[in-house]
Amino acid sequence: MTKIMAITNQKGGVGKTTTTVNLAASLATTGQRVLLIDLDPQGNATMGSGIEKRDLEITVYHVLLGKKTVAEARKSSEVGKYDVLPANRDLAGAEVELVDVPHRETRLRDALQAVGSDYDYILIDCPPALNLLTLNGLCAAKTVMIPMQCEYYALEGLSDLVNTIRKVRANLNPVLEIEGLLRTMFDPRNTLAQQVSDQLQEHFGDKVYRTVIPRNIRLAEAPSYGVPVLYHDKLSKGTQAYLALASELLNTAAKPVSA
Ligand code: ATP
Ligand code: MG
Repeated sequence: MTKIMAITNQKGGVGKTTTTVNLAASLATTGQRVLLIDLDPQGNATMGSGIEKRDLEITVYHVLLGKKTVAEARKSSEVGKYDVLPANRDLAGAEVELVDVPHRETRLRDALQAVGSDYDYILIDCPPALNLLTLNGLCAAKTVMIPMQCEYYALEGLSDLVNTIRKVRANLNPVLEIEGLLRTMFDPRNTLAQQVSDQLQEHFGDKVYRTVIPRNIRLAEAPSYGVPVLYHDKLSKGTQAYLALASELLNTAAKPVSA
């Protein structure tokens, strides 16, 4: 069965897009069939997959508005060996245009039904907001991956997100589960980061992935070449960390946990 995962955190710059792109490439390199969905008008996941967002005529925007199918809009990330449902600035208008459309929260879920069996994993990169686009991601997903930096305010934002997930589960998507919390840009020499990481494990136990993503310059450089880090520097710590995350997911694929 296809695993559909929303990678989300309303806090900006925590590593959502970096995680989506590099996890997609890492899963694809193990032979998994992967679709990456870019739900952010910034189009960073699209560009990071080697697809020029400015040249696109059809994007996820057209899919959400029911003007095109996923099969018509998807592109292949040749370098990453996965498919991409791309985004660009057009998507910024979707929120307003969807206001009067019936079932506006489940547009993505409905559109994905036709292609679900083409993929083992569908990874959805959400924008840094709890808006209608993110809601579409949460309604289409079966699980949520939450990337977070171990900083002072991280835990505060997390409770808002967990509450939103609970509300979505109660009202729109009863199967939604938290897949896990991912510590990103981690620096073990930073005492505060270590303390926040300990608190996370106390509160969320098994839901915190064992794999930790370190701060690694190669991860920050790779998007400027339009490639996942795996194809920028195979031996880098960033590459190794995302390959480890992919194998952690594949090994525990059977048992997500509740919020
Ligand atoms: P937004 O909320 O704007 O969508 P995001 O949560 O998707 O942001 P990213 O774009 O993945 O976050 O990362 C933010 C910045 O941090 C980017 O410049 C990225 O290259 C860099 N970055 C992400 N993860 C790492 C890491 N592990 N090591 C070093 N730099 C990183
Ligand atoms: Mg992003």
